[in-house]
Amino acid sequence: MMDLVIPDKVHDESRQGEALLLEPKTESNGRKLYIESYGCAMNFSDSEIVASILAEKGFETTADYNVADVIFINTCSIRENAEQRVRNRLRDFTIAKVKNPGLVVGVLGCMAERLKSKFLEEEKLVDVVVGPDAYRDLPNLIEQVDGGQKAVNVLLSREETYADISPVRLNSNGINAFVSIMRGCDNMCSFCVVPFTRGRERSRDPQSIVAECAGLFDSGYREVTLLGQNVDSYKWKPENKQEQKTETEKPVLGMDLLDKVLASGEDLSVMYNHTVEEGDVTFANLLEMVALISPELRVRFSTSHPKDITDDVLYTIAKYDNICNYIHLPIQSGNSRVLKLMNRTYNREWYMDRVAAINRIIPNCAISTDIITGFCSETEEEHQDTLSIMDHVQFYFAYMFMYSERPGTLAAKRYADDIPDAIKKRRLQEVVAKQQEHSHERLKKLVGTTQRVLIEGFSKKSNKDYSGRSDQNTVVVFPVGEGYKPGEYVDVLIERCTTATLIGMAHSPQTSAN
Ligand code: SAM
Ligand code: SF4
Repeated sequence: MMDLVIPDKVHDESRQGEALLLEPKTESNGRKLYIESYGCAMNFSDSEIVASILAEKGFETTADYNVADVIFINTCSIRENAEQRVRNRLRDFTIAKVKNPGLVVGVLGCMAERLKSKFLEEEKLVDVVVGPDAYRDLPNLIEQVDGGQKAVNVLLSREETYADISPVRLNSNGINAFVSIMRGCDNMCSFCVVPFTRGRERSRDPQSIVAECAGLFDSGYREVTLLGQNVDSYKWKPENKQEQKTETEKPVLGMDLLDKVLASGEDLSVMYNHTVEEGDVTFANLLEMVALISPELRVRFSTSHPKDITDDVLYTIAKYDNICNYIHLPIQSGNSRVLKLMNRTYNREWYMDRVAAINRIIPNCAISTDIITGFCSETEEEHQDTLSIMDHVQFYFAYMFMYSERPGTLAAKRYADDIPDAIKKRRLQEVVAKQQEHSHERLKKLVGTTQRVLIEGFSKKSNKDYSGRSDQNTVVVFPVGEGYKPGEYVDVLIERCTTATLIGMAHSPQTSAN
């Protein structure tokens, strides 16, 4: 299966399978942890939480799985090829296990949640299976395996946000960090497995988010990306108004939830809870709180959902120069019938209205998107609607995928996966070709302009060049020079571009993000 991504930071192809390194927080227990991550930025952020929990128990991290006592692989289930990648990677650990029979091999994250104890039957090498809400239990689960048993904890939670666990980020560049602001998703897009693998949506206490971002700024970080599956539905109620859920009110979690709602005949919208009351902290409020930490701290966020992005959020972005003019707004399809089948709860016109609002309120805001080709029953004309809305919006970047049926989802239950792979692939190629044209056009228009860039480090190709990102999230490359270094802002005059990179010359160091 072919997926094509024009890279930004949130799903970074070059980071897939990356191992995490942390300093032990307490005295070493003599055991080494190797943890590698796949999928979206949320998983990478979760691996930092996992490593922090185990560092408290004296585990040291290693970047070499051959010397590890515990190997964890944090997995993604979003498409079939993501799962296949993890299964192939598990094969690589077989020899390490033969050499060291005491080695603990664990599978974490979405695939663990989806397959549960079935994973232990399918992959004999695996000792521990742990879902995304059960990481605090890891020390006990490892002990269980040390005692000769296999261990599984895939309980999803209504409350867990790991708010009190401050991830240590030693193998980051010390400049950009991801900060998780919420977990789970209540949206039930019919193609998507996330609501089943990550459970119900819950928001993290804003004070803990601001404290984490301020701490990052104090230790030299200059950009935070606030992460959630649907950041626009972030909502925090003041302590005295927190919902008191009784056992009977608590919805059943996981795949059972969908079956229950379908069996009751209720509309799936019963799962959404977006009413905002006086005193609630909304995403717009949170953005403002984080932006106020310092004008030198750039603030990004991902992902926005077209049905929820409000003008309030747009006005907040426009008000603060350090909130980047960049919105990732996944469209999935440009056709209203397909969007309805996808249960996206907006149509083509709604999406175009949101794009018009962005352009009106935040001139020069870059918009990127996600597109799925060959969803169940999509016709050629409907595919053309996706191409035509791309022409209308002219996205800066896009993540583009062929539809991959995921077991247990609404689409798998209701609709036939009836578009042949060859057609899905051809449509994907058309979408990719169009996006490359648009990305190039967008960047060509920036030649001759000056862009403020946060320097992230040397460029991938040469130590003679620095690489950083513009406010609109485009990679900018320019020669290393006197007077500026990674972690600082610099104005770069853009001289030329490729389809994904701006190339220029730095002309003045700057102190603020804009
Ligand atoms: N919460 C985000 C949103 O609503 O846009 C997206 C999260 S999902 C991890 C990232 C992207 O993966 C989706 O926007 C969608 O384009 C793609 N995706 C999800 N399920 C898919 C599937 N079954 N087949 C192909 N692509 C899929
Ligand atoms: Fe999946 Fe839709 Fe939730 Fe995004 S909003 S995670 S696509 S269910």
